[in-house]
Amino acid sequence: MTSIYLDYNATSPLDKEVLEAMLPYLTDNFANSISFHSFGQAARKGLEEARNQVAALVNCLPSEVIFTGGGTESNNSVIRGVARSRHSLGNHIITSQIEHPSIIKCCKELELEGFETTFLPVNGLGQIDITLLERSITDKTILISIMHANNEVGTIQPISEIGKVARKKGIYFHTDTAQSISKLPIDIQEMSIDMMTVAAHKFYGPKGVGALIVRQAIDLAPYMLGAGHENGRRAGTVNVAGAVGLGKACEIAKNKGENIINKVKANRDLFHKLLTNSLENVILNGHPTERLPNTLNLSFRGFDGQELLIATDIAASLGAACHTTSRQASSVLSAMGLSAEDALGAVRFSFGKYVTEEQAIEAANRIIKFIKK
Ligand SMILES: *Cc1c(COP(=O)(O)O)cnc(C)c1O
Repeated sequence: MTSIYLDYNATSPLDKEVLEAMLPYLTDNFANSISFHSFGQAARKGLEEARNQVAALVNCLPSEVIFTGGGTESNNSVIRGVARSRHSLGNHIITSQIEHPSIIKCCKELELEGFETTFLPVNGLGQIDITLLERSITDKTILISIMHANNEVGTIQPISEIGKVARKKGIYFHTDTAQSISKLPIDIQEMSIDMMTVAAHKFYGPKGVGALIVRQAIDLAPYMLGAGHENGRRAGTVNVAGAVGLGKACEIAKNKGENIINKVKANRDLFHKLLTNSLENVILNGHPTERLPNTLNLSFRGFDGQELLIATDIAASLGAACHTTSRQASSVLSAMGLSAEDALGAVRFSFGKYVTEEQAIEAANRIIKFIKK
């Protein structure tokens, strides 16, 4: 039995086209992108093209793209940076109970320093309530940070509506799009987004690279201090090859994204249909329609998720990837009101463009065989 990889929300393989674009920047064009000489210029050229490619995908200005060391750094930069730059205006942050740990832990740490956080609850499908969000706003609120789509269940939040509320009140609005970029359309103008987190490795780019998009008018204190890279907004010699890889991944998403997503969604839906046609007690966790096209979080009532994955040799996640060593119920599923038993039995299958239809069918058949036995 060969292992089948259905864990694209944890990470994705590098696209060969992305690798090809990166290689020259690891060898010939190796220079520091802030050096004034011709070597530096060559590196800078690749870096600025990458910035244009990221900007083109989400409709922001190239100058609004800051390259970072990934989604975690971008999220840390926003929470800590706004806490610093807006502290004189207030000390209240609104986020949700189902954010990535890189948001939740930063907020918890700020609470020790006198900040207050509202962790908005979610309903059984994983969505926040806009009215509750509006009611949570006080005259001390300086930031609203709500993820676009959840990594565990794929539920999509009403980002445009949240953006409108924040804009009307003059509150900064950040959204973590680590899972949604390339899978859902994103337009920071239309969606009234002030700041946005991007992680390259979730959509066929390299690990350890990301972007933080910050609208021009936003006052964000830098998180990394040092030399004047990225216009003084993020110190540290830029990972030019990584940025070029992220840019290429964005370009591919812009040009071919729709075809890729249609195929990914078709395979996911086929897999789901085969399971529900043959098995009882397969419960979908997350929103039936307002959900990432690649994500399928299921509870197999009466079966242990871990045993199921080991027996079928399917590479998928129990809860989130970062929780796999601990056997606690996922905090996302608990926030959605799942019983401890359903939460512990839950498996997240996440599809990507290298999953074939044959693999989707084979994976479903393995699970059906395991459960019927
Ligand atoms: C993966 C992920 C992150 C973290 O990104 P890294 O680049 O792995 O640090 C943040 N938020 C969400 C929603 C993610 O899925």
